[in-house]
Amino acid sequence: MADEKWQWIIFTDLDGTLLNHHNYEYKVVEPLIALLQARGVPVILNSSKTVAELELWHERLRLETPIIAENGGVIEYRHNGQKHKHLIGRPYEEIRYFIKHLHKVHGWQFEGFGDWTVAEVMNKTGLKTAEAVKAKAREVSEPILWLDDQAKLAGFEAALAEEGLKLMAGGRFYHVMAGHDKADAMRELLADSVLHIKAPYRVIALGDSRNDLAMLQAADVPVVLPVDNAYKLRLDGAYYATHEAPWGWVEAIEKILNP
Ligand SMILES: [Mg+2]
Repeated sequence: MADEKWQWIIFTDLDGTLLNHHNYEYKVVEPLIALLQARGVPVILNSSKTVAELELWHERLRLETPIIAENGGVIEYRHNGQKHKHLIGRPYEEIRYFIKHLHKVHGWQFEGFGDWTVAEVMNKTGLKTAEAVKAKAREVSEPILWLDDQAKLAGFEAALAEEGLKLMAGGRFYHVMAGHDKADAMRELLADSVLHIKAPYRVIALGDSRNDLAMLQAADVPVVLPVDNAYKLRLDGAYYATHEAPWGWVEAIEKILNP
């Protein structure tokens, strides 16, 4: 790793990729992340989680890199000790207002984080109280559960599209959001000077769900993690981790950086 001719940069999803999908286990990645930091390899969290949740994960994993939250809708980074936030997506209040309107007009049945109490979010995600509170601190996207006929989902998507919004399938929920994705925010960070990248560089991206696809396609080395022993993504040239998160994350990074 020390003699590489290029700088490695890692962009990673969290749920089902760096954290176990079922119990959020992650301890096994800690020594490797510490090693990557010591070697100057930035690890950037790129998740559908909120900035508030990702700040908590930054503390746990002792990361100081920029954060990409809510499926590429928000970037937060530190510069001279100050936090800077860049909103790419549409404001949460606007999204909530519009989907409530759709429910009223079409009678479509769905529920989202804005409808749920902290206890209900805990129940639906398996998160603990403090994390569930942070998960509700949404800025540019609304995760929903579709409780209506699957056949009606296309109508919902079409109505969202008329308003410049889209539906993105994540590991647990559908996310209602503007047209951004994880790859847009990744490209923006790579083009910016906040990462202090020494060219040439190569990007490794790791993910497990459809909302990771654009990010993986935009990476030099895409890594796909399995969920419940099955791969949701098919991608030419990807490294398919054989183990589930978090073990598959360690397996893939060790394989790619120490061939
Ligand atoms: Mg995931």
